[in-house]
Amino acid sequence: MEHIEQALKHHFGYDSFLAGQQQVIEQVMASRDSFVLMPTGGGKSLTYQLPALLMPGLAIIISPLIALMHDQVDRLRANGIAATFINSSLNPTERARREGAAINGKLKMLYVAPERLLNSNFLALLEAVQENVGLSLLAVDEAHCVSEWGHDFRPEYRQLGRLRDRFPQAPVLALTATATERVREDILTQLKLRDPYVHIASFNRPNLSYEVRPKNQGSYGELVQLLREQPGASTIIYCFSRKSVDDLSRTLEHDGIHALPYHAGMTSEQRSENQERFIRDDVPVLVATIAFGMGIGKPDVRAVIHYDMPRNLEGYYQESGRAGRDGLPARCILFFGYGDRVKIDYLIGQKEDEQEQFIAAQQLRQVIAYSESLACRRKVLLGYFGETLREENCSNCDNCLQPALLEDRTIDAQKFLSCVARTQERYGMRYIIDVLRGANTQKIRDNSHDRLSTYAIGGELSVEEWQHLGRSLLQQGLLSESADGYSVLKLNWLSREILRKQRDVQVPARTKTAQTRGDKGSDAIMLDREAQQLFQHLRGLRKRVADDMGVPPYVVFADATLRVMAQQRPQSREQFATIPGVGSNKLEAYFSIFTAEIRAYCELHNLSMEIAPQIREKKEHAPPPRAKASAPTRLLTLALYQQGLSIAEIARERNLQPSTIEVHLAELIDAGEDIDIEKLIPPGQFTVIADALQRIGSEVLGPVKSELGEEYSYGAIRLVRSAMQRRLP
Ligand code: ADP
Ligand code: ZN
Repeated sequence: MEHIEQALKHHFGYDSFLAGQQQVIEQVMASRDSFVLMPTGGGKSLTYQLPALLMPGLAIIISPLIALMHDQVDRLRANGIAATFINSSLNPTERARREGAAINGKLKMLYVAPERLLNSNFLALLEAVQENVGLSLLAVDEAHCVSEWGHDFRPEYRQLGRLRDRFPQAPVLALTATATERVREDILTQLKLRDPYVHIASFNRPNLSYEVRPKNQGSYGELVQLLREQPGASTIIYCFSRKSVDDLSRTLEHDGIHALPYHAGMTSEQRSENQERFIRDDVPVLVATIAFGMGIGKPDVRAVIHYDMPRNLEGYYQESGRAGRDGLPARCILFFGYGDRVKIDYLIGQKEDEQEQFIAAQQLRQVIAYSESLACRRKVLLGYFGETLREENCSNCDNCLQPALLEDRTIDAQKFLSCVARTQERYGMRYIIDVLRGANTQKIRDNSHDRLSTYAIGGELSVEEWQHLGRSLLQQGLLSESADGYSVLKLNWLSREILRKQRDVQVPARTKTAQTRGDKGSDAIMLDREAQQLFQHLRGLRKRVADDMGVPPYVVFADATLRVMAQQRPQSREQFATIPGVGSNKLEAYFSIFTAEIRAYCELHNLSMEIAPQIREKKEHAPPPRAKASAPTRLLTLALYQQGLSIAEIARERNLQPSTIEVHLAELIDAGEDIDIEKLIPPGQFTVIADALQRIGSEVLGPVKSELGEEYSYGAIRLVRSAMQRRLP
C-alpha cells in the first residue's frame, strides 16, 4: 500500500496534513466508522478522498447539492483522479455509462444525492459494485442535514441510516461543519455509526477577521470603499430580502462594481448562471439573500459582508465561514443597525407557533449581543459553540485591534434612569428619550409627562446619542428590558445603585478610530510589490487556462499556490514540484505554461528567478561542527543547503553526483549540523525508512535497502539513520 503522505503529495500536491486529517484517514483506512466535525475550510474532503484513493473498491460520497458535487469532481479530475457524479442532471445514456464505469472498477469515487441513493435501482447498482469491485467507504457530507435541529434539515438524510445495515463492511464517514451538541448527537444516532472515531476540531478560524460596523447613512459608501480596496477579490454580500439584493447589486453596478444577485426569486437557471460567473471569477461580487447561501464552495472568497443583520449566530458563523476556506486572510464584516432589528422583530411576530417565536427571539438577542459586545468577537462566536478561546486578545477582530475608548457618562445615565423611574417603568426606550428631550407629543401631554422633573432635561443630546447610551446600559446589565416583545425598560438593583450615586457608568465612545487590520493567515506569505504584481499576472494566466478547460480558476491552482510561485518564480521541474498544491498531475499539465509565463514576465521586468524558499532560521545552540564535517567540500554543500536548494540542485550546482551530496549531508548531520532531512528526501519516505531501520537494525544498510526496494535510495536511508541517531539523547 502506498504510504499516505506520499499519496498526499502525489495526488494533491500537499506536503503535510492539516490538523486532524491524518488521524481520521488512518481510522477510515482501518475500516472504522468516523465522525468528523471541522469548521469550513478545515479540510474535510481529504479525509475521505485520500482513503478512497488508497483503499480497494469504489467510494460513495453523499452530497446534498449538485453544485458542490460538480465542484468536488472538477477538482479531483484536475488532479487526475477518477471521480464522477450521478444526479438528476444526467440523461439516461450518460447515467448508464457512469454506472458501467462504477461497476467495472474504472472509478475511485462516485458522488450522489441522498434522494437518489435509496431508490431501488441505485441500491442494485451498489450491490453490483460491492460484488464486482467492492465498496471502499461511504461518506456522508454535510451530515447535519440529518438533524431537525440543524439549519438545513433534509428528510432524505433520515433514510441514510439504512445504508449502515445494508453494507456493513464499508466504513461510514460522516462530516459536518455544524457544531451544536444536539445536531452532533443526532448525526451519530441517525446514521447508526458503529463505535465511531470522533474527531472534533477547534472551530476557530484564525485567518478570518471579524468586524462589526454600525449601519447608518454612510454604510453604502463604506461598502463601496471596502470593495474598491481589493479590486477583483471575490466577495459575498448578504442582504435580508430579495428586493434589497436586487437593489444593491444594481446600485453597485452603477458605481462601477460588477455584482450579481442570487436569491430564491430567480429561476434556477439564472441562479446557477450567476453562481457560475462568480465561481469563475468573471464577476467579483455576489449579492445573496441570507436564507439562500448553501452551495458556494469557492475557496478564495476574500470577504463576506452582512449588509443586513443575520437571523442567528449559527447562521452567521456558517455564512461568514464561506470566507477564506483556502486559509489565506479574509474578512467577515457585519453592518449592524437597529432598523434591521425592527424588521426581524416584525417577522418573528408573524410566526404562528409560539415555540418558534420564542426560539427566534432568543436567537435575535444573541446576534444583538454579539454585535454590541465589547469583548473579542471570536470569543463570543466560539463561546456560542461551547468553545473557549484561550488567548485574551485574538489580534484579528475589531474589538481586539481597536478597543473602544470608554467615557464616563454617569450623569447622563442618572438622567436616563431617573426618567424611567418617574414614568413608572412602563415605557420603551423611544418614549423615554422623547421625554428626556422634551418632545411635544400628544402621548406625552396625555400622560402629563411634560410636567415631570425629567422632562426636557436632555435636549443637549441627539436621539441617536441617547439610544447609544440606553443600549449600553442594557448591554452592561445596568438596566433591564421586558421580554414580552414590548421591550419595556425596567430598573434593576444596578440601576438603583447608579441612581443612589453608588456606581459610575462607563460607555464606549461612539466613534472608533480607523481600524488597522492584522493580516493573519495560517501560512500566508507576505509578498513584496514585485511578487504581488506577478501574482496578479499569474491569476490572469490561471483564468485563461481555466476558461479553456471550462473549470473554475481555483481548480487549476489555489491562490496560495500562485503566491508561492510568484515569490519563488520556479523554472526547474524540481522546484515547481515542491510548490504546495502541485501534485504529479498538475506538474505535468501546467509546468511548461506557468514556468514560461514566469520566465517571460521576469525577463521583461528584470526579476530574478528560482528563488529558494525561505528556510527556517538556524537554531542558536547547534553544536559546532566537528573536524570531518568542516572539510571545505562539505561546507560548500552546507552553504547551498542553507540557501534552500534541494539535493538535486546542489548536485547540479557543484557538478557532483546526488549520492555524494547525500553523503555530505549525512556527515554534516553526524557532525551536529541542523539539517531538516524531511525536506530533502522524497515525501513520506522518512517514516517508512525509520520504521525499517528500527525493525531490521541500522549497523549495515544493505538489508534495509533490499527490503525497501528500488524507490528508496541508499542516500536517503543513510540520511534517515543519521537523523535518528541525532535524535537519540
Ligand atoms: P472543508 O470541506 O472542511 O470546508 P475543504 O476540504 O474544502 O474543506 O478544504 C479546504 C481547503 O484546504 C481546500 O482549498 C483544500 O484544497 C485545502 N487543503 C485540504 N487539505 C490540505 C492540506 N493537507 N494541505 C494544504 N491544503 C489543504
Ligand atoms: Zn478578538
